[in-house]
Amino acid sequence: VTEAPEARARHLVAPFAARATRHDADATFPAENLSELRAARLTGLTVPEAAGGDGAGPLSFARVTTILAEGCPATALLFTMHVAALAQIGRDGRPEQRERLFADAVAGRIFGIAYSDAPVTGDPAGLRATPSAEGWRLNGRKSYVTGAAVVDGFVATVVDTDGGEFKAVLPAVGAPGLTVQPAWDALGMRASASDDLLCKEYPLPYSDRLGPRDDGEDAGFQPNGLFALGFAATSVGIANAALASMRVELALRSEGEPGRIAQVARYRLADAETEAAAASALLEAAASALASSGEGATAPVNAAKLFANRAAVKVVDLAMQAIGGRAYVRPHPVERLYRDARAGLLMRNTEDQCREEIARASLA
Ligand SMILES: Cc1cc2nc3c(=O)[nH]c(=O)nc-3n(C[C@H](O)[C@H](O)[C@H](O)COP(=O)(O)OP(=O)(O)OC[C@H]3O[C@@H](n4cnc5c(N)ncnc54)[C@H](O)[C@@H]3O)c2cc1C
Repeated sequence: VTEAPEARARHLVAPFAARATRHDADATFPAENLSELRAARLTGLTVPEAAGGDGAGPLSFARVTTILAEGCPATALLFTMHVAALAQIGRDGRPEQRERLFADAVAGRIFGIAYSDAPVTGDPAGLRATPSAEGWRLNGRKSYVTGAAVVDGFVATVVDTDGGEFKAVLPAVGAPGLTVQPAWDALGMRASASDDLLCKEYPLPYSDRLGPRDDGEDAGFQPNGLFALGFAATSVGIANAALASMRVELALRSEGEPGRIAQVARYRLADAETEAAAASALLEAAASALASSGEGATAPVNAAKLFANRAAVKVVDLAMQAIGGRAYVRPHPVERLYRDARAGLLMRNTEDQCREEIARASLA
């Protein structure tokens, strides 16, 4: 009997949560979580059935990602990167590339995303491509690459000699010319190990340039709705995890009689329940809109991300205040979730970019 993807994800919550404290402490990615994602056959979740995947749409992806985030928000982020990378491959890849890379994903290959350039690192930002006999030589760096040391490859943006941008599929680090530089000593999402990816004379063959598509248009950075949806789902998972912790702690204190705990604690719980439920409802609405309208679903997708990112911050704060000092001290899960929640608003679309998109859609 084949279990539904959400049920397969649900089994992973407890083992993911058990590893979260350790990887938060040392800012390493929980590589075991990736083995378990593969074993649960979730790496092919959104790959079309014809290519051997589950053929799941945005709603199933959003639900699975929420569940994964309840156990480990960093793993949910990486899962989002992987699914969004597959969407880019689906949109921009040549038929031969789609077939090969989709088969890789079904077999368990997990892709990271290397789009971001942080100019603060000292080196000139970005990856530069110089033409060579077999394709290109890549040099440079990408920053904030979630799971850089543990993923099985990347979809990366590359700057051509003429200043244009294209996307490339890179192998895992360890291939000649590809290394990771630890750089991720972050406030939260520490287990995402979003380190720097360095390229030194990496030989990119023609076959690993993503596209160009048949219409000749180049495949530079174009976010797809699944990024925003996955980041929203990660925030909903964080809110759900904090809420679960809050329920357990307050239930212990009330011993079956809600009147035993302070009214203010009950009201905080009610506010947290309401925020999480609203975030979840907007996420589902956005997933349905993405399924029916595709990339035209700008307003609902951005609204879901904006609301969920803010709701996670609110819910962890309510949980900490209601639980008290215990929740401020490691290794209480709410202490970690409080820090993890903050990342959502910084990730694309950032809080401001979401508002910009929603306002523009409203006035269109
Ligand atoms: C935990 C974590 C994991 C990450 N993982 C990855 C990864 O795996 N791969 C990857 O490529 N990147 C990753 N990133 C980077 C991320 O995707 C964003 O690119 C980055 O956090 C935001 O870019 P920036 O820091 O350059 O900010 P900027 O884009 O410089 O933004 C700075 C400020 O300006 C505002 N702003 C910028 N543009 C606009 C606009 N058009 N309209 C309105 N306001 C605007 C923003 O809202 C923000 O407040 C990760 C980031 C985090 C926090």
